[in-house]
Amino acid sequence: MAHDASSPAPTPADSLHRRGLMFILSSPSGAGKTTIARRLLAEVPDIAMSVSVTTRPMRPGEVDGKDYHFVSQDEFDRMVEAGEFYEWAHVFGKSYGTPKAQIRAELKAGHDVLFDIDWQGTQQLYQKAQADVVRVFILPPSLDELNRRLIGRGTDSAEVIAARMERAQAEISHWDGYDYVVVNDDVETCFAKVQQILEAERMRRTRQTGLIDFVRELTQA
Ligand code: ADP
Ligand code: 5GP
Repeated sequence: MAHDASSPAPTPADSLHRRGLMFILSSPSGAGKTTIARRLLAEVPDIAMSVSVTTRPMRPGEVDGKDYHFVSQDEFDRMVEAGEFYEWAHVFGKSYGTPKAQIRAELKAGHDVLFDIDWQGTQQLYQKAQADVVRVFILPPSLDELNRRLIGRGTDSAEVIAARMERAQAEISHWDGYDYVVVNDDVETCFAKVQQILEAERMRRTRQTGLIDFVRELTQA
């Protein structure tokens, strides 16, 4: 990957082969995980978004195949039957699922995969791929601020916002099923923290599969 003058020059260890990791961002709706996810995708190399399948209607500005694969309930049920999901769950009365094919290809290529999924999906992925999963939970600074953000986003009706607020406390109660918890007060600070978590997890010895040969060379001199 090319680097510019604003980023540090890669060290030999940066270019070693490593196992891709599954980086999960969860939060109550409106806390800011989509905002943080978009920044990660735009600014951090070698990470791809897992595009979920959903039966919920498309929001203004969303793109089919980029934000989600939007499908009918019949098509979703067919995919469940055919075993095409890594995990799936009901959220806000709609179905959401993580399709297997894209993730397998990204991990095989040594890319990390970013997931915007809820606590149910997080538990299922963790059970299936514990060693490869990093779980990050994003909290809002307060419930009032969460409400303001849901209104300010301007994508949901008052009824939907009320339902999301009602569910927020139940979602927050799953905070202890995560490896890291970050409060999204200031977006820059939150993004920097999440990026640091990703960078540190990438350096875990067990993920750096190219280290054995590299260290062997260093120690054979
Ligand atoms: P989620 O994906 O968790 O539902 P979003 O990323 O869509 O949340 O954020 C909800 C709204 O809050 C958006 O309008 C976003 O621009 C805004 N937002 C996100 N982070 C912050 C922040 N730290 N301060 C103020 N507004 C924010
Ligand atoms: P939204 O409708 O706001 O895009 O997402 C609603 C909730 O569904 C969010 O908490 C989001 O993380 C979750 N979600 C999105 N995709 C998936 C998925 O594939 N699996 C699971 N379990 N949850 C998902």
